[in-house]
Amino acid sequence: PPLYKQRYGKVYEVLIQQKFRENIKKLVDFGCAEFGLFVFIKKLNLEEIMFVDIDESMLKEKIGMVHPLLSEHLNRRNCPLEVSVFKGSIIDPDYRLRKTDVVTAIELIEHLFPDTLEALPYNIFSFIRPKLVIITTPNVNFNVAFGRNTGFRHPDHKFEWTMEQFEDWCNNIIQRFPDYNVEISGMGNPPSTKPTIGFCTQAAVFVRKDLYCSSYISSSYTKSCKCCPKTSPCK
Ligand code: SAM
Repeated sequence: PPLYKQRYGKVYEVLIQQKFRENIKKLVDFGCAEFGLFVFIKKLNLEEIMFVDIDESMLKEKIGMVHPLLSEHLNRRNCPLEVSVFKGSIIDPDYRLRKTDVVTAIELIEHLFPDTLEALPYNIFSFIRPKLVIITTPNVNFNVAFGRNTGFRHPDHKFEWTMEQFEDWCNNIIQRFPDYNVEISGMGNPPSTKPTIGFCTQAAVFVRKDLYCSSYISSSYTKSCKCCPKTSPCK
């Protein structure tokens, strides 16, 4: 499948995992653009999806993408799904976005100026504080596979990171917000002639630790089991 579908597929795959799917009802997609993610996640058992993008004219133009289809009026879901669309920035603290279980930001961060990128972790990991955060961004090392040795993939990109830079950024976030773990992966395999350049898109899945372990209360404990700072291992 094309890469954009692999990215949405990754979000879907994470959300259907047994350990997550019982715990997620509300999802916020920042930088939703043309609502491409919607078709992949609307079949999930979510109760609420909020789409946020800074580009109001794009939201107005494409909002029809989130209207129910005729077939969906005829074959109704078991649980109702509320979909809202807001114009806003990923760094704006907004009380409507609290109690969100999942935040996604697919191919968004590379469009942000440094001051916005710096403000992002606070809004996501402290103000909204969801159970799961999924962030994707291009891997600049892969650009040679497109025959590019200079320049970014898109004229609006403010940066493109190597895998090491993305990993550093993610690790810095979990140091500042120790209630989270992170797993980094990717999609879009490298060509066989350049196996070491890594995936085309890199993806980070941040998981709030209490999702693994209900005994986890805060990061102030000192002894740890594998998934949380309890003294004995959790089941
Ligand atoms: N997530 C979309 C997808 O996977 O199809 C595509 C994202 S598009 C490459 C980047 C989007 O981020 C654009 O729609 C842009 O308007 C939006 N954007 C840029 N800065 C933003 C910000 N500060 N907050 C929210 N959205 C922003």
